[in-house]
Amino acid sequence: MENHFIKLINVTKTYHQGLSPVTALDHINLKISRNEFLAITGKSGCGKSTLINMIGGLDSPDEGKVLIDGEDISHMDDRRLTLFRRNRVGIIFQFFNLLPILTLEENIALPHLLKEGTDSLEEKIDHLLIEMGLYQRRHHKPYELSGGEMQRVAICRALINDPDLILADEPTGNLDSASGRQVLEILRRLRDEQGKTILLVTHSPEGAAMADRVLRMKDGRLLVE
Ligand code: ADP
Ligand code: MG
Repeated sequence: MENHFIKLINVTKTYHQGLSPVTALDHINLKISRNEFLAITGKSGCGKSTLINMIGGLDSPDEGKVLIDGEDISHMDDRRLTLFRRNRVGIIFQFFNLLPILTLEENIALPHLLKEGTDSLEEKIDHLLIEMGLYQRRHHKPYELSGGEMQRVAICRALINDPDLILADEPTGNLDSASGRQVLEILRRLRDEQGKTILLVTHSPEGAAMADRVLRMKDGRLLVE
């Protein structure tokens, strides 16, 4: 029997704001295998970020189910959902979302500090910083970095709790092409070498080319590319 890591069944989400309701997700059906690199493309406003938020447990559907390892996360109690988000998902955003008053090390440590016990935190941070070529900069603040460097810090933060799922919402949208390529190559390596499952929302053809499968969204629906 097929056992998909992620399975969305008829996921629908409508936002009510302003005059007319907006259906951001319209009966989405999607299966993602473990260790798959899936890219999703589509115009601004078609529902890509809403989809990422559903899978990351940051938002919940009005209708339908989001199954992770066979378990519906929209019916998890708060405590289990918090653990799911903290331990199993790493999210990377277009605008990095680093805290400006914290150093790189401190930014990366944040999700780990929310866990009980702080086993080997320093070692893990050092390892990630070295891997991303940022070790020399570890005491710097985000504003001292380039966009590409900030995104690599955000990747370290996403990886600190060793999640099996990485969600990347237009991670290269604010980067020059060389830095963007570097970020895409890191994502690919995380899949190839560490067996992570990657969901990448992207406008870049290079991003789509990295993926095993590309799906396009339009008006809250998924189309096959
Ligand atoms: P994308 O990431 O593809 O640009 P989004 O998922 O952000 O698209 O948004 C899909 C649609 O849902 C848009 O029309 C957007 O305005 C609307 N939307 C998204 N989030 C909210 C929200 N929290 N409240 C109201 N409308 C929203
Ligand atoms: Mg978006």
